[in-house]
Amino acid sequence: MTELPIDESLWPSPPSDEEAEAALKALEEGPWPSHVSELRRTKYPIRLYGMGLAARATPWASSVANAPGIFAGVLSRVSHPWTRVNPPVFEDHERIIIPSAQVISTLILRELIRVSRQHGWGLFQFIGGTGDIVMNVDRDRIVEAAKEVRRVGLEVGGSGDVMRNSVACPGPLLCEYAIYDTLRGRDMTYECFVDWASYPQFPYKIKFKFSGCPLDCLKAQARADYVFVGTWRGAPSIDEERFGKWVEEGGDVEGLVRACPTGAIEWRGGELRIDGDKCVQCMECVKRAYPAISPGRERGIRVLVGGTIKSRNGPKLAKVLIPFIPIKDPMHPDDEIMKVFELLKDRVVPKWDEVGWRRERIGDVAIRLGWRRFVTEVAGLDPREVVREKPGEPYYMNGIPFFIMGEDEKKAYLEELRGSMKEWG
Ligand code: SF4
Ligand code: SF4
Repeated sequence: MTELPIDESLWPSPPSDEEAEAALKALEEGPWPSHVSELRRTKYPIRLYGMGLAARATPWASSVANAPGIFAGVLSRVSHPWTRVNPPVFEDHERIIIPSAQVISTLILRELIRVSRQHGWGLFQFIGGTGDIVMNVDRDRIVEAAKEVRRVGLEVGGSGDVMRNSVACPGPLLCEYAIYDTLRGRDMTYECFVDWASYPQFPYKIKFKFSGCPLDCLKAQARADYVFVGTWRGAPSIDEERFGKWVEEGGDVEGLVRACPTGAIEWRGGELRIDGDKCVQCMECVKRAYPAISPGRERGIRVLVGGTIKSRNGPKLAKVLIPFIPIKDPMHPDDEIMKVFELLKDRVVPKWDEVGWRRERIGDVAIRLGWRRFVTEVAGLDPREVVREKPGEPYYMNGIPFFIMGEDEKKAYLEELRGSMKEWG
């Protein structure tokens, strides 16, 4: 449904109750579950929804609720004047920040259901990408509902110009490729920056995402301002015995060799060799032959900055700011992540706050200043550290986005990176 024009003469006429009901009924036909049937079981203003469907126009306009003590996390709407609904219907919802990996105990879930029924419409929305729970609440119960959510041990926040819900891939909870404990990293954002999630104070929003390996299932590089990706140095590990078995069972070795984008893999005389100097940690061989081939032993985190979908200058991929932070114990990465957090807290975020224009995210500032100035003046890093020591070979920003580029795009991208390396001498 598109935004309605300001000119009232272009607004739709309110549909009759029969028309609204017919539009709702159409969405309840067929063998599949219907969200309309589910909404009817709650206090959701279903007639208003039906009016919007029948008129093919949003029935909502933006609104603001007064919620003392809650500075972020409440969003409000009111029935649009074109609907002529009198008195107007208010729709207020709270964003609830949930634990890492979106794993919630049934005990907490039951408590939330109770709060929702007591203070709102008995309706939740689970937002997959960000992991938020959105709970509808009655306008006069917003503060009381938030207090109850806090009593359960969760927090309300993460909307507006704040730190939005941080997200981690399931990492070691479910995935054998995980190089570090992404869930711990994500928890640390709330331990260290809960104020950033609760009080609007920035030019625009901030997002953190934690991917356990370069496959980056979260697409964090394209969707977060601060991205932590598990990676390794040198060649992937080969388990000779398992690899022999993989070959015996019909594993396609020729295909494996061909699939390596940098020609790092060699198969000669029945022996597999991987040149660690050529490997760019793209995970292609790991995906094909796991567990015979797995991420290398020298493991760490790569930090990228500046990815966004929505921002002043449009979508952009994050760039590598810190190519490799070795981690002593990948399942307890606190010390290493904390060092990056200190850099963000003491330098990068305050600088963004100081120089950022309205709706500029950190990636926009990097573009406006230029990457070299961003690295030196904002992050206070040595630009030579940001590229590989090996002359002429830039760090790939991350595996997947590079590999899904067309050949021309790859060429242009590598030329641009090489150009910027030359500029840095
Ligand atoms: S990003 Fe890597 S570690 Fe995380 S779920 Fe995906 S494959 Fe597993
Ligand atoms: S991880 Fe990628 S670049 Fe490295 S050896 Fe495997 S396929 Fe080649």
